Amino acid sequence: MAYSYDSSFMARQNRFVPDVVVLPRATEEVSQVMKLAYAHGIPVTPRGAGTGETCGSVAIRGGIVIDLSTWDVIEEIDVPNMQVFVRPGVIHAKLNERLAEYGLFFPVDPGSSRMCTIGGMVANNAGGLRAVKYGTTENYILGLEVVLPNGDVIVTGGLRSRAVKSVSGMNLTKLFVGSEGILGVITRIRLRVWPKPKGRGIVMAVFPKKDEAPQAVLDVYQSGILPSGVEILDDSSIEAVNLYKPGVLPNAEAVLLFEVDGSPASVEWEGAKIEEVLKKRTSQVEFTTDPKRMAELWEGRSLVEVAATRLRPDGTRIMAADDVSVPISRVPEALRTIKALGDKHGLRVVNYGHIGDGNIHTAPVLDIDRPEEVARVEKLVDDIHRMAIQLEGSTTGEHGVGAVRVMYAEDEHGAAVKIMRAIKRVFDPKGIMNPGKVFPMEGEDAPC
Ligand SMILES: Cc1cc2nc3c(=O)[nH]c(=O)nc-3n(C[C@H](O)[C@H](O)[C@H](O)COP(=O)(O)OP(=O)(O)OC[C@H]3O[C@@H](n4cnc5c(N)ncnc54)[C@H](O)[C@@H]3O)c2cc1C
Repeated sequence: MAYSYDSSFMARQNRFVPDVVVLPRATEEVSQVMKLAYAHGIPVTPRGAGTGETCGSVAIRGGIVIDLSTWDVIEEIDVPNMQVFVRPGVIHAKLNERLAEYGLFFPVDPGSSRMCTIGGMVANNAGGLRAVKYGTTENYILGLEVVLPNGDVIVTGGLRSRAVKSVSGMNLTKLFVGSEGILGVITRIRLRVWPKPKGRGIVMAVFPKKDEAPQAVLDVYQSGILPSGVEILDDSSIEAVNLYKPGVLPNAEAVLLFEVDGSPASVEWEGAKIEEVLKKRTSQVEFTTDPKRMAELWEGRSLVEVAATRLRPDGTRIMAADDVSVPISRVPEALRTIKALGDKHGLRVVNYGHIGDGNIHTAPVLDIDRPEEVARVEKLVDDIHRMAIQLEGSTTGEHGVGAVRVMYAEDEHGAAVKIMRAIKRVFDPKGIMNPGKVFPMEGEDAPC
């Protein structure tokens, strides 16, 4: 049963129980499992920590789950060449703790850092708070070892070299990063890491009208500064946070949080400059590098996920339509539309997220024991996904497609889905690798 869930609402509503779970600790063991599965046409689902929010690591067609979370070996930290070799089960936060001993870090910063595995991050191309400046997981992967569905083992990119720069051969690494376990099992990762910045600062700005927020972000970019992260809390999340812990956030339509990092001197300069730029749009703005004050300014953002349920006494926050991505300029339109869609379906939705790259987290809050409400939330979730496509955005900015967004593949990618299917068939002619995920194969229905 433990393997029948991840963080998605879909896994909460359904119990997809695998027939077998294996916990390999060697490439050869993964290869043997895949050979057996291939010979008998058995579905195989790779799994990291199961923190995904799209039912991606859940065996919706049964068969074998390969749990890679116990394979948590950091094989080597190559300090002079600023790279590491890890096995897939290493936890993100643990890797960063080890890297900090050498003044290094892996800058991608998912909210699930203390739980998720590097293998899961690579398979999902995870992003996070600092994607504005540092990009997502794909920017750090130099090479991979992958066990293919038939059991063959390949290496991509420069897994065997230590060069950080190479343009040799077709870029198979990029094909596996974000492929969500539908092409093979990632068993070894060569990851580029960076010097850890010595300074950090936070700027908080309060906006009576949320429409001002995106322009304020663009003003900061146009002043020549790229913060490491830019987060938004809108009136729905401000209300929820203040119900959870009164007075944490000012009553406003939007609060923006800018994080800057780098050398202490550059942080001081950038923070002061951001403050100056924002003062043209709001009178309430504060910059600090004091650790205690930074924690206070950040408190609302860190509480919002648990606070969401406070919007109603019988409420549960669900993970569905939870990370749509839109152009930055259209964030206010997206927030207004989500509010209107919530009103239309009679449901509360909390909004917050990474405005710096247009990635909005939406948290529908409902009574999950009422089937009629669940039916309404399903319509709401569908409307939010379609809104994202209509606003020239994407149904997912970071959590991936998994099984819950398969039905939008054609709308988002059109004729390219045909090419995706053809690539999938090259790697996985029998269709055993994480079936039912990312896009439907010919003749397949959406999983639920
Ligand atoms: C509280 C919370 C906050 C989150 N915040 C963020 C965030 O800020 N940014 C973000 O991007 N995501 C976030 N997530 C989503 C999730 O944590 C990430 O996508 C994470 O990278 C998944 O890692 P995992 O080890 O849990 O993978 P799993 O959930 O186990 O698997 C995810 C996918 O990867 C595949 N997979 C896993 N390991 C392998 C492997 N070795 N080889 C091949 N395929 C594999 C699985 O089949 C599945 O499709 C959050 C989740 C939670 C619960």
